[in-house]
Amino acid sequence: MTQSTIAEARARVASLFEQSTLSSGVYAGRWIESKGRDVSTCISPIDGEIIGSVSLAHTVDYEEVLESARCSAQAWSEIPAPVRGYAVLQVAEELERHKKDLGLLVSLEVGKTVGEGQGEIQEMIDIGRFAAGLSRQLYGLTMPSERTAHRLQEQWHPLGPIGVITAFNFPSAVWSWNAFIAAVVGDVTIWKPSSDAPLTAIAVTRLANDVLSSLGHPPVFLLLCGNGRTVGERLLDDRRLPLISFTGSVSTGRHVATRVASRLGRSLLELGGNNAAVVSEKADMEMGLRAVAFGALATSGQRCTSTRRLIVQESIYRVFLDKLTRLYSTVGVGNPLEANVLVGPLINRAAVDGYLAAIEEAQKQGGRLLCGGREKDITQLPGGFYVEPTIIEAESDMPILQQETFAPILYALRYSAFDEAVAIHNSVPQGLSSAIFTTDLREAEQFLAASGSDCGLVNVNTGTAGAEIGGAFGGEKDTGGGRESGSDAWKAYARRQTACVNYGRALPLAQGVRFDID
Ligand code: NAD
Repeated sequence: MTQSTIAEARARVASLFEQSTLSSGVYAGRWIESKGRDVSTCISPIDGEIIGSVSLAHTVDYEEVLESARCSAQAWSEIPAPVRGYAVLQVAEELERHKKDLGLLVSLEVGKTVGEGQGEIQEMIDIGRFAAGLSRQLYGLTMPSERTAHRLQEQWHPLGPIGVITAFNFPSAVWSWNAFIAAVVGDVTIWKPSSDAPLTAIAVTRLANDVLSSLGHPPVFLLLCGNGRTVGERLLDDRRLPLISFTGSVSTGRHVATRVASRLGRSLLELGGNNAAVVSEKADMEMGLRAVAFGALATSGQRCTSTRRLIVQESIYRVFLDKLTRLYSTVGVGNPLEANVLVGPLINRAAVDGYLAAIEEAQKQGGRLLCGGREKDITQLPGGFYVEPTIIEAESDMPILQQETFAPILYALRYSAFDEAVAIHNSVPQGLSSAIFTTDLREAEQFLAASGSDCGLVNVNTGTAGAEIGGAFGGEKDTGGGRESGSDAWKAYARRQTACVNYGRALPLAQGVRFDID
């Protein structure tokens, strides 16, 4: 069963690639020949088997991609925004036609369950449709001028080519948050995907540009596969890229921010989270249990929004933890392509080592293991990277609680008064997503107030993970302060210009200043 689901998935996704066993990882308006390039072998975390090989960017390829971006940016910016929006809509429709295969590719490449793999593609489709509507709503304000016969107005222009560097855990959706919104604004994007997920990037880049080409548009979704230290660093230092959108860990993001700032470029940072759910004694307990389990276990705890800390009111703490531990024991861990499995593998060996090291350290610091804690052997998948979902009882002053471990480890904490819950909640350096479970209106509103959660995302009676595309997505503090996806996040990809027009015959100066030169 296990082997057949994997074989079936591999056969299906093969149609997304050309016949060659080696895929080009560089798209510069044409796919760059693989010959003479370094090659990266792609391993599925499900079984450790090779699923493809990708040729990486060479120095000359980098320049060709940048030149192609420059040409496309010129042509694309002259196309009316609603026409650009229509093109992005057609890309979304094409993605929908290939949703099943693309979703399976995501599952094979990064180990998501089938439902989550499909959800990732659906997120791209949704953002494409959102971007198409947005293309007719790139509004600029008009302000009343203080001078007679003057018009004062803001307009938004494309920024130019934009570098987009993404993490492994959302191998296509995060690209689309950036690329589709930037495209309707009039920008071209150069994407450097994670070295752990180049195949998904190649497949969606191919589909998206084929659609543009069929509509007679230039290629605006360029691709540069390569590792962070080479290709990534070049993007950071390249003055031709006014904006670098970076999604990844806090430590890499700190480096990105510094490098881009040193050339006075802009960076849009979507970095790590360390998200908590508060469960009040007035919570709907069943709802809280399901939401916490999903938040902590979905994508095997490898979401930036994964629930990592659980803060429970002391009067229900024991009951809640007993129920949660029981729920954990029923969760299927294994081949994510199988229907009954909710927790697939971690991305690679290093992630498993990181999981084991964090658990050991937590125990050294006084944490008590309630369940899990070990690597999990799946007999039929000896090459896969599986671990047991883990809950550790912790104290809020344990240093390990300050860090994000990208794995299904949940630290359980207790509180007595509501203010204490908020203080524990806000006591970490990251500030991405937060949740409270309560039926008490006062508690809910206090958590939403300025003195409540300090995160970019706040949820009441729904978990930390699983945001909708319509809202602006991002976090505060070490999470980097960026906002992507919905609402007015499009402004990050645009150049704001304040325009003043004098349509009178006199030359009045602002603030009533006189400059009479008769
Ligand atoms: P990572 O920081 O290791 O890598 C992210 C990207 O940066 C990759 O493409 C990598 O190749 C590139 N990179 C590495 N070194 C670089 C350098 N010196 N210069 C330029 N680029 C470089 O992160 P990861 O392990 O792929 O992803 C997991 C992390 O991403 C977690 O911390 C997670 O919370 C975060 N994340 C955040 C969000 C968000 O929206 N806030 C979303 C997804 C993931």
